[in-house]
Amino acid sequence: MRLLVLEGDGIGPEITAAALEVLAAADAAQGLGLVRTHRNIGLAALAECGSTLPPDMLDTARAHDGVLLGPMSNLEYPPKDQGGVNFSAAFRVGLDLYANIRPARTRPGLPHRGSDMDLVIMREATEGMYPDRNMVAGSGEFMPTPDVALSLRKVTRGAIERIARDSFDLARTRRGHVTAVHKANAFRLTDGLFLEAVRDVAREYPDVTLEEVLVDAMAALLVRDASRYDVICTTNSYGDILSDLASELSGGLGLAGSLNAGTDLAAAQAQHGSAPDIAGQDRANPTSMILSAAMLLRWHGMRHDAAPFVAAATAIEAAVDAALADPATRTRDLGGDLGTAAFGRAVAARLGG
Ligand code: ATP
Ligand code: MG
Repeated sequence: MRLLVLEGDGIGPEITAAALEVLAAADAAQGLGLVRTHRNIGLAALAECGSTLPPDMLDTARAHDGVLLGPMSNLEYPPKDQGGVNFSAAFRVGLDLYANIRPARTRPGLPHRGSDMDLVIMREATEGMYPDRNMVAGSGEFMPTPDVALSLRKVTRGAIERIARDSFDLARTRRGHVTAVHKANAFRLTDGLFLEAVRDVAREYPDVTLEEVLVDAMAALLVRDASRYDVICTTNSYGDILSDLASELSGGLGLAGSLNAGTDLAAAQAQHGSAPDIAGQDRANPTSMILSAAMLLRWHGMRHDAAPFVAAATAIEAAVDAALADPATRTRDLGGDLGTAAFGRAVAARLGG
């Protein structure tokens, strides 16, 4: 498997190094034949070539089977000079990585807030309100005068049908329940079209139940009892916000892995940002990146009918669970003492690496 490694900013290099250590152990155990290419993105690329997303990066990614994608910094809000692009949005749109798959589950023995839970947020990742100055994203923000800022939101039937189909397919392999999260009472056209498209797809899946919930109510209901939810299908921004909520309920942001999946390519990316407040201190929890990498291996294995990749993903998830269940091998965000690198080594050791 040809893997493109993009470390990113902040804690990116640290959590990526830990994930690579775990991948190396999984490779040694399962014979995955991982071949890595490393390239700079984010602030390192901005210094090098004037853009956080170098011009040839999308073609480089297409020449690989998968990407390990570190977080990108947003140095200032609003970001004024970051080489002109929102990296994650431009990367997802440019490579048509339309499904941002964000699981959140609690683990036996690991403290968390509220009820036990095991859910997956399926976030449409190519449309919505995500601005891009190159208009790659097909939507964006603009200012007609210095005192007025406007934002466009894009929802298309095709994009929603595609994420809805993936959501229902996933629900079939789980507990058979999809929750469509929207705000159609306020955004009648955009969220109205979203709901219509999800309902159309739902008719193809009589064995899966569909529930519709307003996004504001969803925030409260997740806190009240997240155990009720199986697969949550939603648009870009709602999915982004709800997944931070869900991962924090599951035990912490540092646990939250995710996959940006397209048809022919996928990128493993932690749900959280570059955490500049703890960068360079060996304090970050690399679980998010390790579990994202496991999702990438599983995705690759399922697509190519390659059992060792699926087995490696399962083994990594089990090794992470076992490490987290032991208070002696927890990172500081979870009340433990282990640094980022030591946690990576602890997980790798459980794989025989
Ligand atoms: P960015 O501008 O890149 O989005 P941010 O300031 O929003 O960065 P996040 O990365 O989203 O930061 O993190 C929010 C909070 O969660 C920060 O306090 C950060 O330290 C913490 N956090 C995020 N990821 C991790 C992690 N892997 N391990 C431990 N703490 C984390
Ligand atoms: Mg953030």
